[in-house]
Amino acid sequence: MTQLDTLAQDKFNRDLADLEQPEVYKLLLDLIAKKVDQMPLFSGKKKIYYFSAEFLIGKLLSNNLLNLGIYDQVKAELDQAGFNIEEIEDEENEPSLGNGGLGRLAACFIDSIASLGLPGDGVGLNYHFGLFQQYFEDNQQQYRPDTWLDQENFLKKSDKHFQVPFKDFTLTSSLYDIAVLGYQQDKHNRLRLFDLDTVDSSIIEDGSISFDKTDIEKNLTLFLYPDDSDADGEKLRIYQQYFMVSNGAQLLIQEAIERGSNIHDLADYAVVQINDTHPTLIIPELIRLLTTDHGLDFMEAVKITSQMVAFTNHTILAEALETWPMNYLESVSPEIADIIRKLDSIIKESYPNQASVQIIDENDTAHMASIAIHFGFSTNGVSQLHTDILKQSTLKDFYELYPDEFHGLTNGITFRRWLMDANPELSALLDRVIGEEWRQDSDLSELMNYQEDDQVLSEFSQVKHANKEALAHFLQDHQGVSINTDSIVDVQVKRIHEYKRQQMLALYIIHKYHDIKAGNKPETPITIIFGGKAAPAYTIAQDIIHLILSLSELIANDPEVSDYLQVVFVENYNVTAARYLFTAADISEQISLASKEASGTGNMKFMVNGAVTLMTLDGANVEIADRVGQDNVYIFGKEAQEIVRLYDEEDYVARDYYEQAAIKPLVDFIVSDELLAIGNSERLNRLHQDMINKDYFMALIDLEEFIAIKEKMYADYQDEKAWRKKGLINTAQAGFFSSDRVINEYNDQIWHVQVDD
Ligand SMILES: *Cc1c(COP(=O)(O)O)cnc(C)c1O
Repeated sequence: MTQLDTLAQDKFNRDLADLEQPEVYKLLLDLIAKKVDQMPLFSGKKKIYYFSAEFLIGKLLSNNLLNLGIYDQVKAELDQAGFNIEEIEDEENEPSLGNGGLGRLAACFIDSIASLGLPGDGVGLNYHFGLFQQYFEDNQQQYRPDTWLDQENFLKKSDKHFQVPFKDFTLTSSLYDIAVLGYQQDKHNRLRLFDLDTVDSSIIEDGSISFDKTDIEKNLTLFLYPDDSDADGEKLRIYQQYFMVSNGAQLLIQEAIERGSNIHDLADYAVVQINDTHPTLIIPELIRLLTTDHGLDFMEAVKITSQMVAFTNHTILAEALETWPMNYLESVSPEIADIIRKLDSIIKESYPNQASVQIIDENDTAHMASIAIHFGFSTNGVSQLHTDILKQSTLKDFYELYPDEFHGLTNGITFRRWLMDANPELSALLDRVIGEEWRQDSDLSELMNYQEDDQVLSEFSQVKHANKEALAHFLQDHQGVSINTDSIVDVQVKRIHEYKRQQMLALYIIHKYHDIKAGNKPETPITIIFGGKAAPAYTIAQDIIHLILSLSELIANDPEVSDYLQVVFVENYNVTAARYLFTAADISEQISLASKEASGTGNMKFMVNGAVTLMTLDGANVEIADRVGQDNVYIFGKEAQEIVRLYDEEDYVARDYYEQAAIKPLVDFIVSDELLAIGNSERLNRLHQDMINKDYFMALIDLEEFIAIKEKMYADYQDEKAWRKKGLINTAQAGFFSSDRVINEYNDQIWHVQVDD
């Protein structure tokens, strides 16, 4: 009898082969839980607490089996009983605890922290419905609550509870844990997710994601980032943030005391990394707890807190740098507001004439990043370019005050999920060609020796083709779309945002559509795939989705074009879908307006899986290009310095570009009779006007270069061997982008936590 047979008998009193798929899923949950029960927690004097409003962890079943080192064995046992492990994986709901790159980074980081044997937990909130589930109707984005808690899963309710004092009431939290298993480790860490037992999904209005934003006891952890386009929505975010950090701070103090801290030495026991500004309130909250609950005087509490908290900045977009009106903070927690005023006085006394570094501005609004930088001990950017821009412009005045506290730590991704788990075929090829060492050290550079090896290149092509087949199956099952698996697969997947410039790729599609109709048929058919959600309050982003979906329909129904060009928009892009897209892609679209994408991590996932990047010199793209060399990437567009200058001098006029002969017809096609016959006139007209009169993220500035380089890329694809060589060099050079490298850097430069071995 295999272990699964025995478990099936114990749990269901039936043979494994007689179980239904959902029962097999539960069996595997039990199997993993049993293994985890036998694994102690990583420990040590000092522990990392990674606070993040989001953890986009993805499904955990296969990743946990892989990290436990039992994936192959379980797969074989299931095979024998007549089950396909991938179908069992489909049974699991994807946790909706994050929405994009920042949340996925947190997920990669907790995987690496555990895989490197460091004691460190993620701390966040247990959202019941995440952001929303996206679907399309009438070529427009629609919303449904993203249910994920209605099945057995990896969440385990603990018996820990804390009291969180808000202005008008005190709430009792419940703590849930998810085990975080490192790769081939015999100990583990946890993701600590706080929740309220009183949350009530019946307050959600039928068929939508709207609810009473003022009913905090019932709504607090219902959704991630509920619509904050009004005051109640903004306050709800402050309630969420304070709830998260108050619980997390109480937890870390409790655990530090258990490990022997006398509170005065708390900074020797805990280090807090805050993932962007959302958890910044941990600074005043720690000060509150240290003074009121633990009797320290204010200045000592400030000093200890300042030695414990480190801040990661994720953006230079002005609208994404959080600020909260003081009266909102007062309405949530007067004590926290009071502490922020005291911190503000300290800064105003120290730097009386520097408005740019103040915490509270002349509008009585608090700047979260200012609190984090002044009262933390480290500030880091997430790529070299981003860190340079922070130092030279966005945070220049802070950098001059604290030059030694600034770090540049280029993001990374965990190879366990994004290579081993996502692409077993490529992983097996790597094992055969360069040996299995890369699974431990993420070093793939040995592959460089095979860039002229016909056999290896041809196997590399076969793997890519197999992954296109898998993507085709996924798209068929997921949304009934079929794609040509012999086509060039060209992918842009990420949140929909003007700075990421999905609209620029849409304009290229308009160009290509007309070019094909004019008789210039591509040698190899092209499939352009988009995926990503638009925030519910972000109208132009939804208009961009609408344009792309309308183009997709127009092209699909045009027999002159449809054999050569297909446009697909993946519904509800998430970690599950991502796996198919990154591994099948030939072309990775990383076309943000230079200076605006702090790092990107999607770019790294495509790279390691052998796609060739079409890029602006933005974020970590710069470092990808440095590593693979100019022959193995396609670079276009204005550079960051020039773009920063254009913003500073308000020197970009969209209309000047629009008036150019090559551009005008493409933009005007948005409101052509053909598209208006398919699409919504209000959306298309609004987008058209925006592009001509505003185009805040400058899609038009790089459009001509973009069109030219895309044509070159498609032409280069015709030399299949040369193309796969580029892909192989990308995989070979991806080792630097392993999140294990990043976590080692955080630990060496910021955390200084001992490995537990
Ligand atoms: C990696 C990832 C992201 C981030 O992609 P970027 O291209 O870096 O913005 C967003 N969503 C999912 C599901 C991801 O896996």
